[in-house]
Amino acid sequence: MVAAIRLARRFCNWFCAMPRSDLDVLIAGGGFAGLTLAIALRQALGERFAIAVADPGLSRGAAADDERASAIVASVRRLFETLGVWQRVAADAQPILDMVVTDSRLGDAVRPTFLTFAGEVEPGEPFAHMIENRILVAALTAKARQLGIGLRSAAVTDFTLTPASDDNASADRRIDARLSDAQALNARLLVAADGARSTIRSKAGIATHGWSYGQSAIVVNVAHARDHQGRAEEHFLPSGPFAILPLKGKRASIVWTETTAEAERIMALPEAEFDAELEQRFKLHLGDIKVIGKRRVHPLGFFVARSFIAERIALVGDAAHLIHPIAGQGLNMGLKDVAALAEVIVDAARLGLDPGALDVLERYQRWRRFDTMAMGVATDGLNRLFSNRSDVLRLVRDVGLGLVDRLPALKRLFIREAAGLVGEVPKLLRGEAL
Ligand SMILES: Cc1cc2nc3c(=O)[nH]c(=O)nc-3n(C[C@H](O)[C@H](O)[C@H](O)COP(=O)(O)OP(=O)(O)OC[C@H]3O[C@@H](n4cnc5c(N)ncnc54)[C@H](O)[C@@H]3O)c2cc1C
Repeated sequence: MVAAIRLARRFCNWFCAMPRSDLDVLIAGGGFAGLTLAIALRQALGERFAIAVADPGLSRGAAADDERASAIVASVRRLFETLGVWQRVAADAQPILDMVVTDSRLGDAVRPTFLTFAGEVEPGEPFAHMIENRILVAALTAKARQLGIGLRSAAVTDFTLTPASDDNASADRRIDARLSDAQALNARLLVAADGARSTIRSKAGIATHGWSYGQSAIVVNVAHARDHQGRAEEHFLPSGPFAILPLKGKRASIVWTETTAEAERIMALPEAEFDAELEQRFKLHLGDIKVIGKRRVHPLGFFVARSFIAERIALVGDAAHLIHPIAGQGLNMGLKDVAALAEVIVDAARLGLDPGALDVLERYQRWRRFDTMAMGVATDGLNRLFSNRSDVLRLVRDVGLGLVDRLPALKRLFIREAAGLVGEVPKLLRGEAL
């Protein structure tokens, strides 16, 4: 009986796989993380290394209705340049030339500046650029198409591991994935790049550790009368940070944190009243302001997945971790995952090794999990320190900010850290091809 089952399994391993597409890597999620990984693998390993990206949003253009813009730090810009993507968006990217940080109450007439950063990591290389999400995702999609990467407009709805043959434990197992268009794909590695509510992560049984902040970020873009001169502003107010981030032209992206109840109230206001709330926080230093596009709200939370890997599965980007946007680092962290995972896969594939083997995935996890925890804890602490009404804490943090402002060496270190250039930096983030 056992022998018959084994025989049937062997037959099925061979026969059932026949009409399916055999891939080396299947990437679930065609946002920033998924598309960037696909491009990096294709450029390093060529067409013989079979990859596909599945995302239901690909047909309408993933991120098409995303109103957000992201601060892309210098190391991630180097990665995009190395992959030939930055060249497509450079004209739309606004360099951040300096940054001011204030700390005050909402009604204060004057907002004293506690910290300023003039932001270059190397001469002529700004520490970050602002770019609209939809422009960057469109460029990544176009690049992936140009490289002939298989893009499937469908969600990965479920997957199983093919049974192991008795003599070779997990080495010949593969992922059998089912798509929402009723197709099946078979791969040696499934990468979960499917965002914070990752289906793959939950179906793999990977728990997360984290919490909701009870805060939401209102995101809206504005046009203003005066030039922002490339200056980013972070105003710490008692309900959370209010960030004014410069976009190309006389425009800015606002990320405005409130308690969730207050954010809902503000979001429901008619235009004139919404504009009045906005102006109270934005002030008039850039002249008249006018809302452009739609207002959106994003509930904020924090989590880190308890493991970044499972058998033949790797998590990247928001599927692996979610952080507060206070330091504008979520996407940058996700692309660090991508650069590290691409490097370990390419190293393995060039040696003729299995890209989904456990030791390959463990190398990825060792590289990324500690760094992610450190950044997660830092942004969580920053939010707790600044999003409160305590005058004592305000005094303590303002003394701290004032001290940092007077120590240029420390500021330089902060800038390099924020730019992703400290620690064991993956090759792509150093601007080196794989
Ligand atoms: C208000 C706000 C401001 C931010 N600002 C910054 C910033 O300035 N800088 C920064 O670095 N980060 C920032 N972030 C964080 C950043 O936006 C995210 O970290 C980033 O979008 C995550 O990218 P991702 O590719 O991992 O996931 P996502 O962008 O969420 O992409 C996931 C993709 O997976 C697809 N998908 C979902 N389920 C499935 C499935 N079952 N099968 C296949 N596909 C699936 C979705 O359609 C989607 O396209 C900000 C976040 C917020 C909320």
